Amino acid sequence: MSSIQKKTDVILIGGGVMSATLGSLLKALAPEWEIKVFEKLANAGEESSNEWNNAGTGHSALCELNYTSEKSDGSIDISKAIKINEQFQVSMQFWSYLVNCKLINNPQDFIMPIPHMSMVQGEKNVAFLKKRFEALINNPLFKGMEFSDNPEKLMEWIPLIMQDRPSNEPIAATKIDSGTDVNFGALTRMLFDHLKNQNVDIKYKHCVDNIVRTSDGSWELKVRNADNGSIERHTANFVFIGGGGGSLHLLQKSGIPEGKHIGGFPVSGIFMVCKNPEIIAQHHGKVYGKAKVGAPPMSVPHLDTRFIDNKKALLFGPFAGFSPKFLKTGSMFDLVTSVKPNNVLTMLAAGAKEMSLTKYLIQQVMLSKEKRMEELREFIPNAKSEDWDLVVAGQRVQVIKDTAEGKGTLQFGTEVITAADGSIAALLGASPGASTAVHVMLEVINKCFPQHMKEWEPKIKEMIPSYGVSLMENPELLHEIHTSTAETLGLSAKELAYS
Ligand SMILES: Cc1cc2nc3c(=O)[nH]c(=O)nc-3n(C[C@H](O)[C@H](O)[C@H](O)COP(=O)(O)OP(=O)(O)OC[C@H]3O[C@@H](n4cnc5c(N)ncnc54)[C@H](O)[C@@H]3O)c2cc1C
Repeated sequence: MSSIQKKTDVILIGGGVMSATLGSLLKALAPEWEIKVFEKLANAGEESSNEWNNAGTGHSALCELNYTSEKSDGSIDISKAIKINEQFQVSMQFWSYLVNCKLINNPQDFIMPIPHMSMVQGEKNVAFLKKRFEALINNPLFKGMEFSDNPEKLMEWIPLIMQDRPSNEPIAATKIDSGTDVNFGALTRMLFDHLKNQNVDIKYKHCVDNIVRTSDGSWELKVRNADNGSIERHTANFVFIGGGGGSLHLLQKSGIPEGKHIGGFPVSGIFMVCKNPEIIAQHHGKVYGKAKVGAPPMSVPHLDTRFIDNKKALLFGPFAGFSPKFLKTGSMFDLVTSVKPNNVLTMLAAGAKEMSLTKYLIQQVMLSKEKRMEELREFIPNAKSEDWDLVVAGQRVQVIKDTAEGKGTLQFGTEVITAADGSIAALLGASPGASTAVHVMLEVINKCFPQHMKEWEPKIKEMIPSYGVSLMENPELLHEIHTSTAETLGLSAKELAYS
């Protein structure tokens, strides 16, 4: 039996950090709007946003070497690092606004200060790291970064990595104390609690099976209640497809021309988690290394102190892998059913171009635990197999589209796809992900509600004082924002090199 429900202003599909963020922004900008959320699982934040399914790095390019590439003249391109750092400051400001207004509480339950470090071995890599450090250090966004290739200093910073290191290969690291570990699962759940308090109608165990345009230009969703199988029809003026890996199929169902000629390629992640409290206690930082030749950027190895369930944890990875599922809880047919007449050529072109990536991912899946331990031992030379378990993380669906670089080009960033009239938007792709959720959702708002932007701008500026301003070019505002967000979010002044 199918029931038709009253039309609402906004429907958010998916209970991840993206829908949570967009809902929270819209509730602040248009409190009178009615919002409904449909999530197919039993709770919010169970897929990629869950704390065990991602690395919890507050990505601000403090340690991720893939955001600073070496140009052909040998200089370092820091433009991507600046962009990501600025975007993370937007998230920090919005989270601080929510805490200051008591809309969410206990920020230490979702964000903790932790030094961010990059670590490399070999003469060439050490030279690269030094150049990277020199390119960043005078930029106010990266103030407080230190470089060292002195083994004694490195022993102080990363004892677990330096102890029993057999090789005499040159080794160097950078360290900046203003990094963060973000529990995106906890944040998502807090934001959904806040939305519930704001009378947002949140339906768990409700799966959106179809999206069709109605004659008046709004959208009708076919929603299946997973408990009893009943079908409901819900309509809204605006729909956000925040289904994570599930977004591509839903975008295709909407039939908007902007969703055509786009494909998806799933890359799964596996972490190793330490179960020995003595080892966990010996490490304090997120230490990012360099990706192996041929490895995709999302499989850069890192050894991370994490704060999960109010306990310190130690994780290493991610190892990339291949599964045809688009969500961890998805179907083995996800990849096949995403191939449509309009994207088959794009997908075939990508298949031909990315054979080496596919081969790499298949090799990664086949790795035994002992082989993975060998990679971990490049970080912790005396790591013991019995101290580590494997955990399967979330799925990332990389976007494939036709670009100036050619047909079927694999993209590693996020893509916001919107209908020309702004009535529907979808978020595809995975990186830099949850850290930049606020910036990306503001982009959705900008594209879909241009008619309201003038009226909403003062409120956006109240929540995000740097909105529309380059912080790098305004070091005083940057200093003010760093100081106030650190205080509000409980990131102790001692840990932060902001002042
Ligand atoms: C291994 C790994 C490491 C990562 N590390 C980091 C990191 O360190 N820092 C960082 O910032 N980001 C990281 N990310 C990226 C980050 O996790 C994602 O960008 C972010 O969680 C995506 O949020 P989302 O809301 O779009 O998707 P999700 O959290 O996946 O939420 C989508 C939701 O939609 C629901 N859904 C799907 N289809 C339907 C449907 N038809 N009907 C109803 N509901 C539906 C799903 O059940 C799910 O709950 C990582 C990701 C992975 C996989």
